[in-house]
Amino acid sequence: MIIDLRSDTVTKPTPAMHEAMMRAEVGDDVFGEDPSVKKLEETCASMLGMEAAVFCPSGTMTNQIGIKILTQPYDEVICYKGSHIYKYEGGGVAGNSLASVRLLEGNRGRLSVDEIAANINNVQDVHQPISAVVSLENTVVREAGSFYYLKDIATISEFARSKGLKMHLDGARFFNALTETSDKAVDYGKYFDSISICLSKGLGAPVGSVLVCKKELEPKARRMRKAFGGGMRQAGFLAAAGIYALENNIARLKEDHKRAAELGNALNRVSWVKALMPVDTNIIIFSVIDKITPEQVLAKLAEHQIKAIKFGAQEIRLVTHLDFDDRMLEKTIATIKKLSF
Ligand SMILES: *Cc1c(COP(=O)(O)O)cnc(C)c1O
Repeated sequence: MIIDLRSDTVTKPTPAMHEAMMRAEVGDDVFGEDPSVKKLEETCASMLGMEAAVFCPSGTMTNQIGIKILTQPYDEVICYKGSHIYKYEGGGVAGNSLASVRLLEGNRGRLSVDEIAANINNVQDVHQPISAVVSLENTVVREAGSFYYLKDIATISEFARSKGLKMHLDGARFFNALTETSDKAVDYGKYFDSISICLSKGLGAPVGSVLVCKKELEPKARRMRKAFGGGMRQAGFLAAAGIYALENNIARLKEDHKRAAELGNALNRVSWVKALMPVDTNIIIFSVIDKITPEQVLAKLAEHQIKAIKFGAQEIRLVTHLDFDDRMLEKTIATIKKLSF
């Protein structure tokens, strides 16, 4: 039994998801003829209270398209300093959108109106890039899955729009946030111009993300998807996995959160853990004590067939998911308790 806690992207399709994929009706989606892709896009748009959606191969692509369609070259994107769009997308904002980023501290990655207000540039001053977009991340991966409540997002959005800024959401783990807040997905759309949702994280689909956006942005989003090389042909096989995931794998996310909390409790009690970030959803990030390295801990975990990843100089990350069950949880906790350095 291999226990893979490196990411929630490692899940494999279940037999029922496989079945849904094999039965998918497909067509050439570049010609707009794949019924399964269309169904997925319509489902996502209506779930989130928006008008349009575009199915893409990855969450990096949906974020990059989102930023691209909301900016002009020389604009600036306001985001958390550890945000995925800045730190983990290969410099895409610079390369694809020719935009600069304004990096905010946030409160565990969550931005506030005050911090945003203090970082909007003066458009009259030619020295300064034009502040164009506020990009939020929910949940925040670099901050162990911290999440926003919709009421705080509403406040940010109303303020940002009053200053002429657009709103993008990196919702790679959007449904993990909703699992904790009980906010309604359908209420999100009105606060954003574009929202990226990953099907291949906690939802357990093998591939795919969806960019949900305003109707008037859809043609540009489709054009950019083509230009980025993300136009796929009989993509309905993948879309069918996504539809299956949306129908079957949202309600169970609370199990991932419960198991993550139990792992956090176990880690909090062992002498080789220095500090643990609060475990809010399905991501656990902790630092190890100074006299040891993350590599040493990872090597010992690997001896017990447990995989995790280094996530900073002294930090390790674990992520719970669909393929991590109670038996694996027990074994992982027992191993955590047993390790000594
Ligand atoms: C995983 C992730 C993405 C998208 O990643 P891909 O691997 O390109 O699908 C975007 N944002 C966050 C916060 C993520 O964790």
